[in-house]
Amino acid sequence: MSKGDLSKVGSRNGHGLELRGVRRVFKQARSNLEVLQDASFKVSGGEIVALVGPSGAGKSTLLHIAGLLERPDGGQVLIDGQDCLGLSDAQRTTLRRRAIGFVYQYHHLLPEFSALENVMMPQMIAGAGKAKAREKAAALLETVGMTPRADHRPARLSGGEQQRAAIVRGLANDPSILLADEPTGNLDPDTAAGVFAQLLHLVRDGGLAAVIATHNMDLAQRMDRVLRLEHGRIVEA
Ligand code: ADP
Ligand code: MG
Repeated sequence: MSKGDLSKVGSRNGHGLELRGVRRVFKQARSNLEVLQDASFKVSGGEIVALVGPSGAGKSTLLHIAGLLERPDGGQVLIDGQDCLGLSDAQRTTLRRRAIGFVYQYHHLLPEFSALENVMMPQMIAGAGKAKAREKAAALLETVGMTPRADHRPARLSGGEQQRAAIVRGLANDPSILLADEPTGNLDPDTAAGVFAQLLHLVRDGGLAAVIATHNMDLAQRMDRVLRLEHGRIVEA
């Protein structure tokens, strides 16, 4: 695929994310651990799906593969209809920065930088100018009520505030796909509910395709569909 073709993907054109027959095997000393056997699903733009399954089921592995952070041992990952695994590393990185936002269970904000700078960072890595990145970061932080905290480093933010900053950082490059790995898993139930409501609102507002791994069935039920990871396969719950 040429660079020109890449310009078509990553816009919010409603295609979304598809995994076909994804397989991932971790080689171990004695036996191989086949975490994903034949995982397939599709999430369209504007659709929010929950990814559930017990700890160790392979949710994080699946999200890393969907987010082009890790390569599967078989199968296909399609972003906006394009098969991504045949791309060069550089093309995959470009596509990932443009099309995919990722939110982790633990915020992964850079400790030496303020919330504002953390939200500026992915924009500047993708080539945005400093003034533009700052303006957009400030606007994004405002959407989650973080304006009074924008200049604080992560250590001076509460857990909920850290996750709010991490969520808008994931949205900073206008991705078409948001992948979130137990994004409220470290928060107390009340804080989790508030942060989760904001996450859903932002994703719906932007018309993104979203996959959100969670242990919390109450939260899962508030999404459009629930996908369960069972024995390395996706089962529509
Ligand atoms: P979940 O997020 O559902 O808890 P994970 O995707 O983190 O599950 O892990 C699924 C299984 O794969 C676990 O048994 C885990 O120990 C194993 N695993 C994950 N990553 C690796 C790795 N890099 N090397 C070996 N085993 C791994
Ligand atoms: Mg996990």
